[in-house]
Amino acid sequence: MNNTSFNALWVTETVDESATKKKSTFSRAIIERNIDDLPKGDVLIKVAYSSLNYKDALSATGNKGVTRKYPHTPGIDVAGVVAQSSNEDFKEGQEVIVTGYDLGMNTAGGFAEFIRVPAEWVVKLPQNLTLQESMIYGTAGFTAALSIFKLQHSGLKPEQGEVLVTGATGGVGSVAVAMLAKLGYHVVAATGKTESHEFLRQLGTKEIISREALQEDSKRPLLKEHWAGILDTVGGNILANALKSVKYEGHVSCCGLVASFELPTTVLPFILRGINLLGVDSVEQTMEKRLNLWNLMANDWKIDTLQALMIECDLTTLNETYIDKILQGQVQGRVVVKL
Ligand code: NDP
Repeated sequence: MNNTSFNALWVTETVDESATKKKSTFSRAIIERNIDDLPKGDVLIKVAYSSLNYKDALSATGNKGVTRKYPHTPGIDVAGVVAQSSNEDFKEGQEVIVTGYDLGMNTAGGFAEFIRVPAEWVVKLPQNLTLQESMIYGTAGFTAALSIFKLQHSGLKPEQGEVLVTGATGGVGSVAVAMLAKLGYHVVAATGKTESHEFLRQLGTKEIISREALQEDSKRPLLKEHWAGILDTVGGNILANALKSVKYEGHVSCCGLVASFELPTTVLPFILRGINLLGVDSVEQTMEKRLNLWNLMANDWKIDTLQALMIECDLTTLNETYIDKILQGQVQGRVVVKL
C-alpha cells in the first residue's frame, strides 16, 4: 500500500503579503497525493463514499474557524473499507464509518480516495445499512438523530403536538423531517424553498410554513403557545422567534447557525413557560453513544425514504457545483460523494 498515489480535493491558501492588511485567497483542485503523506494513524481506509455537509463547504472555502491550516483536504464523513490496520479491532476488508472528531477539519478528510485515522474514531458499519446509506445520513443524519434522541429524552412525545423543523430541506433538516415522521410525530417544516414542498411531503411532513413567516419579529417577548417541540438547524432570529411560541414545558434542540450564530432572545420563554433548550454537538460524542445512535439509524429509526434524500456526485462535480450551492442554501437533501 505504501507509496500508492490517490486522488484528493486539495484546498490551498495564497497570502498577499503586500497588502497593508494580510489578505488570503483560497483555491481548490483535484490532485494526486501519496498514501505516505497522510497523517499517522492506526487505520488506513479506502474511501467508498463521503458526503457534503455545510461545515465541509466552510473548510473548502478557507474558514479558519473550521480549518486552521492549509493546504488541506476537507470531508468530515467517510464510509469505506479497511485497507490496513495496526489495531486488532479492525481487519483488512472490514466496512467502516468515520464521522466527526477532527476528520476533515485539521486532519486530511474524506474528499479523497484514502484517509488514515486513529482506531478510536472508527465505527464498524452497523448491520442493515450499506456504505452508501451510511453516507446519505453522514454527519447531518447523525446530528438529526442525536437531536431527536435528546428531544425524546427531554420528554417530547408524539401526542403532545406539532414539532417544527427549521432549515427543513437541508441535510440535517431533511433527515430530521423524515425520521420524526417515521417515529410518529406531527412534523411542520419551515423552508425557504417554495419548489421543495413536494419533496418535504414525500418525506412525511404534515404542514409547511415559509422561512419568512418565522423571520418576522413581532417585538413581543412571548406569542401564543403553538409548538410542542422544535428541531432547529439555523439559529438567529428564526430560532429566537420560534422560542416565543413553544408550549409550556416544551422541548427545543439547537445544532446550527446557517442563519446566524446569535440568539437574540429573552429569558421569558424559559422562566414563564419552563421550556427546555437542548444543545447538540455531534463531533465529540462517546463511542458508546455513537454506536447506539448508528444502530437506531440502521434499524428502528431507519428512514424508508433514504434514497429520495440523495444526490450522488463525484469529486469533480462536488468541487465545481455543490460546495458553492450548499453555501448559498440551495441544496435539497444530502449530497453523497462517490470516490
Ligand atoms: P445545509 O446547508 O444542508 O442546510 C441548511 C438549510 O438551512 C438550507 O438548506 C436552508 O433550508 C436553510 N437556510 C439556508 N440559509 C439560510 C438562512 N440564511 N436563513 C435561514 N435558513 C437558511 O446544512 P446542514 O443541514 O448540513 O447543517 C445545518 C446546520 O447545522 C449548519 O449550521 C451546520 O454547521 C450545523 N451542524 C451542526 C452540527 C453539530 O454537531 N452541532 C453537525 C452538523 C451540522 P430551507 O431552504 O429548507 O430553509
